[in-house]
Amino acid sequence: MSAKIFTVANQKGGVAKTTTVASILSYLASRGKRTLGIDFDSQGQVATALGISQSNNVFNFLVTGQSPSLWVQSTGRENLAIIPGDRMTSTAQIVMNAENRPLDAVASILKAMRREYDYIVFDTAPSVGGLQERAIWASDFVLIPTATEFMSSDGLTQILAMIRNLEEKGWPGNVAGILPTFYDQQTRESQETLAELRKTFGELCLPPIHRATVLRECAAEGVTIFEKDPKSRAAEEYTALAEYLLKL
Ligand code: ADP
Ligand code: MG
Repeated sequence: MSAKIFTVANQKGGVAKTTTVASILSYLASRGKRTLGIDFDSQGQVATALGISQSNNVFNFLVTGQSPSLWVQSTGRENLAIIPGDRMTSTAQIVMNAENRPLDAVASILKAMRREYDYIVFDTAPSVGGLQERAIWASDFVLIPTATEFMSSDGLTQILAMIRNLEEKGWPGNVAGILPTFYDQQTRESQETLAELRKTFGELCLPPIHRATVLRECAAEGVTIFEKDPKSRAAEEYTALAEYLLKL
């Protein structure tokens, strides 16, 4: 058995990519799946979200050529490990581009690890010709969170254009879905953007994650929603998302 690989991506920041990654990782691990998170965002917040220190492990994973397993770190949770990142991750991207490392560079590094995990999930940051593309290239699925706000369509258009470009180059993966986030049914803005997403993407538009203060608290405390408040609506919504991903 070889790990199923997901990338969570959007060209915009602040759309709940990292929150979604931490929640999915936590849920899959709790279901007994051997789960690995890899943080390709140089803000290093996957580690922070799980209450552990940022480090240059992703840099080492990408540039040293040593066994990738060396850079895997425990999160203190059963079945859940990560390769944490920090600001050095953007240096790694510069090095890789300077060395003209191919689009499948990350896929090649991961090859040796795929058998050790059931699920691998990449968090990413926007980049042009960089890590984000190489993560997607290595992935079976891309999940695209998008805030239910009027200005959010640009990021969505850009990431979809990038994915189309990768498909033209032969990427065999799929978009797992568009995940509306920060949904607030009290506002016309949320309602209209969700309606628009459903019209444009049909079934690919997943059920929304509501705006929830508890998710901000999770990030601040370094715990996941399933640890902080497993009975919350946010936990229910992320459970439904993770169950959907499990079935893909
Ligand atoms: P990204 O990784 O796309 O930049 P984050 O996951 O870091 O986005 O989310 C940005 C901020 O919004 C964080 O403070 C996070 O805790 C908070 N947040 C994420 N999802 C929600 C939500 N559904 N409701 C309220 N706050 C949220
Ligand atoms: Mg993030």
